[in-house]
Amino acid sequence: MTDINTKEELKKRLTPLQWHVTQEKGTERPFTGCYNKFYEKGTYTCIVCDQELFSSETKYDSGCGWPAFNQVLDQGRVKLTKDTSHDMVRTEVTCSKCGAHLGHVFNDGPKPTRTRFCINSASIKFHETGEEKCNNS
Ligand SMILES: [Zn+2]
Repeated sequence: MTDINTKEELKKRLTPLQWHVTQEKGTERPFTGCYNKFYEKGTYTCIVCDQELFSSETKYDSGCGWPAFNQVLDQGRVKLTKDTSHDMVRTEVTCSKCGAHLGHVFNDGPKPTRTRFCINSASIKFHETGEEKCNNS
C-alpha cells in the first residue's frame, strides 16, 4: 500500500550506519563514505524510498569529506529545515518523500549556484545511467 516499509522492516534492510544517518540524523565519519571520491555517471536515489535526488553531473569534490552536489534534481525532492543543533545554524536536508536525513546544505559552493549539498554516502544509492534514459540537458 505504501512506498515506505514499516520502521522494523526498514531497520532490517538498512545497515546500522544507514539507519543511524537517515533515521537518527547521524553523520558518517568524513572521508569514509563510499561516494566521497566517486564520479561515475548516473543518478543518486534516497536509500530509504528510492526517490531520485541527485545527478552525478552536479557532483563535485568539495574536499569536505562527504559527497557534495551543487544542485538537487528537483527542488521538490528535498525538504530544507533550519537546524540549530551543535551550537551551529545549518540547514538540514531531508528527503521530501520519506523524511530521511540526507545531510546539510551550505552556501559556500562553486558558481553559479554557490550551493553545496553535503550529503552522507549512507543516505543515498548510486544508479548507473541506463541506456533507456536519455540525457536531454
Ligand atoms: Zn526518501
